[in-house]
Amino acid sequence: MQGIAYAELAAEFGTPLYVYDADVLARQYGSLRALLHPDLEIFYSLKANPNVSVTAALRALGACAEVSSLTELLTARQAGVDGDDIVFVGPGKSRRELQAALEENVHAIVCESVGELAVVDELARARNQVARVMLRVNPGFTVRGSKLTMGGRPRQFGIDEDLLRRPLGSYGAVRLTGMHVYLGTRILDEDVIAENVRRIFELAERHDVPLESVDVGGGLGVAYFDGERDLDPVVLTRLLNPLVDKFRAAHPDTRLIMELGRYLVAPAGVYVVRVRDVKTSMGQRFAVTDGGTHHHMAAVGMGSFVKRNFPLRFLSAPAADESQIWQVTGPLCTPNDVLGKNVLLPPVQVGDLIGVLRSGAYGPTASPGLFLGHGYPAEVLVLDGQAHLVREADRPADLLRRQRLVRTLTAGLHQSGLHRRDDGGGPVR
Ligand SMILES: *Cc1c(COP(=O)(O)O)cnc(C)c1O
Repeated sequence: MQGIAYAELAAEFGTPLYVYDADVLARQYGSLRALLHPDLEIFYSLKANPNVSVTAALRALGACAEVSSLTELLTARQAGVDGDDIVFVGPGKSRRELQAALEENVHAIVCESVGELAVVDELARARNQVARVMLRVNPGFTVRGSKLTMGGRPRQFGIDEDLLRRPLGSYGAVRLTGMHVYLGTRILDEDVIAENVRRIFELAERHDVPLESVDVGGGLGVAYFDGERDLDPVVLTRLLNPLVDKFRAAHPDTRLIMELGRYLVAPAGVYVVRVRDVKTSMGQRFAVTDGGTHHHMAAVGMGSFVKRNFPLRFLSAPAADESQIWQVTGPLCTPNDVLGKNVLLPPVQVGDLIGVLRSGAYGPTASPGLFLGHGYPAEVLVLDGQAHLVREADRPADLLRRQRLVRTLTAGLHQSGLHRRDDGGGPVR
């Protein structure tokens, strides 16, 4: 990565390891930004990868932030994003989160229900503040082509479009500034994205809601599996920009927002694992590695119907110029802990490195990191040819610290020293 050997990164930071390439972040953001209508602002959805340095890298490129928890809000602020460049979205926000959003004077709290509107009003009134609020709308329509559609059905997200036909009540400490619609994720069809945006603009115009800000969501996907192809930013923006132009002409002062998570960060990340064991079982070759489900649920296919392989790359020098079929598995005691099924690799040896590509989004934060007590992996950002540790791996001591032992349970063991073992010093490996 940027001229640094993976073996070097693995030796310095250990495995399993997430490595992010800031050049790829810049390319991914920059190529879209250069083509996208200048009035459509890009907000980075921290949910995809909430690392503070990754967020700061995107901030440095010009992205604003979309956050959905108190920690994400604080992360965005630490990464240098101004309050006015942050929107706070998400169902079931706590009073503490809303309070913090008011303190940071975020560009908008995106309200997900009429009940939440009342809470924001109460909290803002107590602070002698007027809260800027966008309404998240659950539209009456849906557009096909997303892997997870949001509109056109009962959802815990947003306020049903129907409700907008009647007055929502009066909230003296709330200034309604606009609307937010998010229609789905992993969309790989430019026409579907443009159609979403067209219908969101239409929706915004047909209701009696102020249009200081309109957030058209996003959901832009990246190709992971055989048969998928990446979005073409040229094709996409050729479809989108005229829609923005048209809306702009009618509403010259509206702040226009697009939220992007996966699209910006997924291609920049590689999950680097090391082979710990090789074996054959009933004629199949297994490479047992130190990484798996606990750090990368999406790659093992947890939550999906069929296991499909993320792109895998052999990162060591091949022992022979030959391809073999391998099962690449992890260290968890579950048969589903498979990073790659029937993967073509050179002869694999203990100590070899394998990379799961396109792993910059929904990696460790979206995985059951505490399973088997492995904890969070280290994360490294490669920036201008330099590798920076941007997240330390959890150690056993970190994981044990938050547990409480009921002392009476081990009273008899105290002399024996049985429970005294302390392996807490090094990372979990
Ligand atoms: C998850 C989410 C995003 C980010 O989605 P991606 O598919 O990663 O771009 C943006 N906005 C909202 C409201 C979300 O829930």
